[in-house]
Amino acid sequence: MCVSQTGKRALVTGITGQDGSYLAEQLLQKGYEVYGLVRRLSTPSTHNIDGIADRIQLLDGDLHDQASLDRAVKVAEPDEVYNLAAQSFVGVSFSQPVVTGEVTGLGVVRLLEAVRSHGDGARYYQAASSEMFGKVVESPQTEKTKFYPRSPYGVAKVYAYWACINYRESYGMFISNGILYNHESPRRGIEFLTRKVSDGVARIKLGLLDKLRLGTLDTQRDWGYAPEYTDLMWRVLQHTKPDDFIGATGASHSVREFVEMAFRAVGISEWETHVVLDPKFARPAEVDRLCGDPTKAKEVLGWTPTTSFEQLVETMVKADLARYAGLRHRNADAGSL
Ligand code: NAP
Repeated sequence: MCVSQTGKRALVTGITGQDGSYLAEQLLQKGYEVYGLVRRLSTPSTHNIDGIADRIQLLDGDLHDQASLDRAVKVAEPDEVYNLAAQSFVGVSFSQPVVTGEVTGLGVVRLLEAVRSHGDGARYYQAASSEMFGKVVESPQTEKTKFYPRSPYGVAKVYAYWACINYRESYGMFISNGILYNHESPRRGIEFLTRKVSDGVARIKLGLLDKLRLGTLDTQRDWGYAPEYTDLMWRVLQHTKPDDFIGATGASHSVREFVEMAFRAVGISEWETHVVLDPKFARPAEVDRLCGDPTKAKEVLGWTPTTSFEQLVETMVKADLARYAGLRHRNADAGSL
């Protein structure tokens, strides 16, 4: 077992996801001993952590299963627990509301119980979400803005948020919520809008796809770059006291802008001819515009996101282009064998 320089140990749930994998890399760089909770799937989805597989320790577990969470906390003996696991896709939360409530909501209480019983004072970070603001009552939103969730996902995140505050107040635990706005990267799951666009635009550029089918071009989001947001998670747990923080850029952009910029990144200006609006992708209730005020995180934690919207879009599209180019290469090589 490697001995960490800081002597700190972290347990990261959702380590195979976008945020979990970036956070694990950053914690390793800081000298943490990193444990990751991984659920059993018929086909493992560990590609995001393949590069660090020999430096982290994976523990079997599922947010549905109390015993597995108890065991993970006992084995990892963490100083810090980052709960990033969730059924995290808003669209699916409408078709699977009960699973979303079980994992994204109740799963948090199971993990809090595990940390309360076996965590020995471990600090706990909860991945809360701007989707809790939903049909916003003011803009930009701050840590004091009232919630109005518009999806089973948002509702489950509100439940989890309050469960965290309740455990903090009831048991004096160090528990903090990071209310993060959309953050993206080439590791974003393929079903999420930004990745669907970057992947689709790359395929259109390479002649592998003709049309990009989207539910709307009008919604607006406050989009940031994921590794900067996982840095914020770490800062939240280094603060002198448990507290709740918004993580956002403070600027929102429409889906239309994202799409236009993605096509521009590959040199296509007539982008409208490649985009089809398909009601199949519209949601029963939409969140029209989210924009967060990151002042508190800036002032208290010294956190400032620096990646621009344009850089983010370009990074994602170019990564997908490179991936398809690599696949073509490999297929050509295989064909020549
Ligand atoms: P993600 O890529 O979808 O990752 C979700 C992770 O949760 C995956 O590792 C997944 O494992 C794991 N998971 C799902 N169900 C589980 C279960 N029943 N038990 C244990 N693990 C389970 O999400 P992300 O973008 O990294 O987001 C991380 C967290 O931040 C999530 O809680 C998300 O809701 C929240 N959040 C994200 C954003 C954003 O813009 N990215 C914004 C605000 C809040 P598998 O690999 O096995 O599926």
